[in-house]
Amino acid sequence: MKKRIAILGSTGSIGTQTLEVIREHKEIFIVEVLTACKNANLLIQQSIEFQPNAVVIEDESQYKKVADALSKSDIKVYAGKKAIEQIVEMETIDLIMMAIVGFAALPPTIRAIEFGKNIAIANKETFVVAGEFMVEKSKKYKAKVIPVDSEHSAIFQCLAGEFENPIDKIILTASGGPFIGKNKEYLQNVTVAQALNHPNWSMGKKISIDSATLMNKGFEMIEAKWLFGVQPHQVEVVIHPQSIIHSLVQFEDGSIKAQLGLPDMKVPIQYAMTYPFRIKNSFPKFDFAQYPSLNFEKADTNIFRTLAIANEAMIKGGNMPCVINAANEIAVEAFLNERISFLQISEIIEAAMAKIEFIKSPSLQDYFLTDELTRQKVLEQIK
Ligand code: NDP
Ligand code: MG
Repeated sequence: MKKRIAILGSTGSIGTQTLEVIREHKEIFIVEVLTACKNANLLIQQSIEFQPNAVVIEDESQYKKVADALSKSDIKVYAGKKAIEQIVEMETIDLIMMAIVGFAALPPTIRAIEFGKNIAIANKETFVVAGEFMVEKSKKYKAKVIPVDSEHSAIFQCLAGEFENPIDKIILTASGGPFIGKNKEYLQNVTVAQALNHPNWSMGKKISIDSATLMNKGFEMIEAKWLFGVQPHQVEVVIHPQSIIHSLVQFEDGSIKAQLGLPDMKVPIQYAMTYPFRIKNSFPKFDFAQYPSLNFEKADTNIFRTLAIANEAMIKGGNMPCVINAANEIAVEAFLNERISFLQISEIIEAAMAKIEFIKSPSLQDYFLTDELTRQKVLEQIK
């Protein structure tokens, strides 16, 4: 029996790489659902190639274009936010690849959990914003959540066979992005193009900027806390510019396990889709001779403020991670549109933390309200 995959966010960086994995293993996987936000052309092209059961375009104004293009096929076409939420309920879906970027992934992820689905989670903002809720609900509804983010996939792999052995600490590796080693004066004037130019990974725009500010690593700390049930002081970050060691786990006896490989998201994507099995592929393999040295250094939180901000939000908990996520989404968008400078991103997030009322034990509704209110305040500030 082939595994039926729904890819939410199929037109993005993770979405297209998931399709590459499926293309490589057509004997194992079938595409059941594809969704996009605005990119109707790519969604149509993917649908023609993979012949899914159903597709959804979030932008309703593009419904006709997609429906017309696929009218000669049996593919069902839907549009709108609600349709993206509802599509995850389909009984024929065996695994959902959650590859929508940002807070927008929250409603369909919650719905998928409530329907007890198997979820390969690439989106990180959901666990940053509402990690406690996600963990609690996935236990309640017996939804399996498998990490895709390379660091969390690495930790997940290091924990295989460790049964109940307690984790002493998790060490997340960070490439450091394009600006590692630079000082504040340099960062003052960096351009969007420079910030998007990641040395090791090719990713969507939002996560590329998050990698340049190191907010991506801050988010990954919070994500790790929830996915692996550890305390904030048990999560560390180390800069490792080559991105070969994807992360490490230290156990109570002092032993450290690491997972290594070339920086290629197709590997953790494939692992999440075939777990607990590993299958052959044609992707390039790591060669030690090509990397005579692997380096490590401490991250400078005075220069990369976002790392300190995320740590503070992780320790404080409640709705604070939701505040920093919303502020970051607006600030990154403003930076991409050249309305603020690179260093203003962290200033804006820090200011938002002070402006929004702290809620220690937020309900789901509190998360949505916090998100909305934070966005409003940040937008007012940068007007
Ligand atoms: P992209 O921006 O490349 O792709 C995002 C996808 O989500 C696209 O299919 C886009 O559709 C869709 N989308 C965007 N906004 C909405 C919305 N409001 N409603 C529904 N769909 C939407 O992002 P990435 O693939 O880089 O990242 C996806 C997630 O995975 C992020 O959370 C990121 O942090 C995480 N991640 C990514 C990694 C990477 O290597 N790229 C690595 C680890 C984690 P459209 O194309 O039509 O706009
Ligand atoms: Mg990562």
